[in-house]
Amino acid sequence: AAKSAGGAGCRFFEPEMDARMQERRKVELELRRALALKQFELFYQPQIDLGTGKVEGFEALLRWHADEGLMSPASFIPIAEETGLISQIGAWVLRTACMQAAKWKRPASVAVNLSPLQFRGSDLVQTVMSALSHSGLDPERLELEITEGALLEDTDLVISTLNSLRAIGVRVSMDDFGTGYSSLSYLQKFPFDKIKIDQSFVQRMQHSGEASAIVRAVTRLGVSLGMRTAAEGVETEEQLEAIRAEGCDQVQGYLTGKPMTNSDAAALLSE
Ligand code: C2E
Ligand code: MG
Ligand code: MG
Ligand code: MG
Repeated sequence: AAKSAGGAGCRFFEPEMDARMQERRKVELELRRALALKQFELFYQPQIDLGTGKVEGFEALLRWHADEGLMSPASFIPIAEETGLISQIGAWVLRTACMQAAKWKRPASVAVNLSPLQFRGSDLVQTVMSALSHSGLDPERLELEITEGALLEDTDLVISTLNSLRAIGVRVSMDDFGTGYSSLSYLQKFPFDKIKIDQSFVQRMQHSGEASAIVRAVTRLGVSLGMRTAAEGVETEEQLEAIRAEGCDQVQGYLTGKPMTNSDAAALLSE
């Protein structure tokens, strides 16, 4: 409204900018409070091995029980990144995921998302090692998911971080593959264990020959680079069959299991 109020330029933008900054600051304070008040919770979504049909592991997905209700990470992770709070929140996620997974009756794997800033932080490897040692979780059971955004700058640093993580014994997955840029060269350059094909391709497969071709190409590439492939966002039997036909190793989606509480995940593993 401020913009259409008149053509006098900058002056009219200021209140808007101010409002946005104030909103950020408000959320920042609320996020700090959330950590202190233990308003965060991890949900777990099953990852199914297509070879055996069994639950191989879970992806940990952060939930915030804010005063206003349940908040999705897509809405607050960007603010946590901008304000630097992501390192504290991320450390909490790592610690909690490792501790909860260590108590599951079956040694399923647990996948934790890292934001680009977290991945490039100088204390990442230390934070991961301390989460592992405090929980006693076998490093082989921990998987870290990073998006292409984490790979944009300083290739040498990225490779050395990936190698340090692999030296500890944890695995690293490329998340949301296909949504960023120069994806193919990234795959060759960086030592990932798994490629997670973004749900947008999976969901377009039935209607788009191109989406199917991309899923097929990535799956083949995974085979030749020695990386496993997973399909995200599988919602229907038809999508599952299409994914199976392309030879993906793993699926994750509402069809095979929605994100659930830790106690439901633990119960699923005890069945
Ligand atoms: P992601 O890592 O790609 O996680 C998958 C997202 O897809 C999750 O959304 C999940 O609930 C959703 N999903 C799973 N199956 C289906 C399906 O069949 N259909 C549809 N439409 N969606 C499906 P969620 O939990 O809202 O998380 C959104 C994003 O927030 C995540 O995307 C991840 O990038 C980020 N995120 C979540 N937890 C964390 C965290 O602990 N740390 C960081 N840094 N980022 C996180
Ligand atoms: Mg993920
Ligand atoms: Mg993803
Ligand atoms: Mg995503």
